[in-house]
Amino acid sequence: MVKADAICKNFGSNQVLKGIDLHVQPGEVVCLIGPSGSGKSTFLRCINHLETVDGGRMWVNGKIVGYDLKGSKLYEQSHNDVCRSRSEVGMVFQQFNLFPHMTVLENLIEAPRLVRKEKKAKAVARAMSLLEKVGLAEKAQSYPRQLSGGQQQRVAIARALCMEPQLMLFDEPTSALDPELVGEVLKVMKDLANSGMTMVVVTHEMNFARDVADRVVFMADGYVVEQGPAREVITNPQNERTKAFLASVL
Ligand code: ATP
Ligand code: MG
Repeated sequence: MVKADAICKNFGSNQVLKGIDLHVQPGEVVCLIGPSGSGKSTFLRCINHLETVDGGRMWVNGKIVGYDLKGSKLYEQSHNDVCRSRSEVGMVFQQFNLFPHMTVLENLIEAPRLVRKEKKAKAVARAMSLLEKVGLAEKAQSYPRQLSGGQQQRVAIARALCMEPQLMLFDEPTSALDPELVGEVLKVMKDLANSGMTMVVVTHEMNFARDVADRVVFMADGYVVEQGPAREVITNPQNERTKAFLASVL
């Protein structure tokens, strides 16, 4: 589903990704962990075309992301290609990023209506069934400001799912939440994982990583330092940096 080979990304002279290799199989749940500034968000953003890559190659769902080498020239994907690939990937951010002036239901049907030109009835039916799944059907007519952080994040997840993505990316989806609201969001993510969704999750929730992820990838300084089955990496890390990081968050 995701095949990243030697992905490099620089911001000016700051080398943020120094050759990331990561393959994610369909249905796999991968948690990305690592210290602040190690490049986790940047890598997720590269998967979803929110950043261009400066080196290496990445395929998402069989299609190459960003730039490709053709002969000796770099060429960029057309805007249409980018839009099409992006619509196959759902992304959920730390700050829920809902449209504040739209109701929950309007937030959910916006992309299917605009991007896919779906009929309203069809978009509404899917939106309502997804709101049901995240336990918020009764909030369809509410505005984001009328919801708790946990409810807003569950709406954001439902909104991403409305585009029927092949892959879901989560960037610290519970970090902005009060502790008592974290569980309800993790529960929705766990159900999604159990339903077979392919997921890449940046998180500091080690219990979630251990119990739900198939694989944990530890990044530091723009490199993948260690990876393996979730339980093994978390309970028995081999690399000194992984050990130090886990000791600081557990
Ligand atoms: P955190 O755990 O704090 O979210 P992270 O692992 O997600 O950290 P990134 O956000 O990917 O780290 O940032 C990696 C490095 O890239 C940091 O040094 C950051 O300052 C830099 N960086 C990220 N985005 C930009 C940008 N748009 N312009 C310049 N530098 C950036
Ligand atoms: Mg980040």
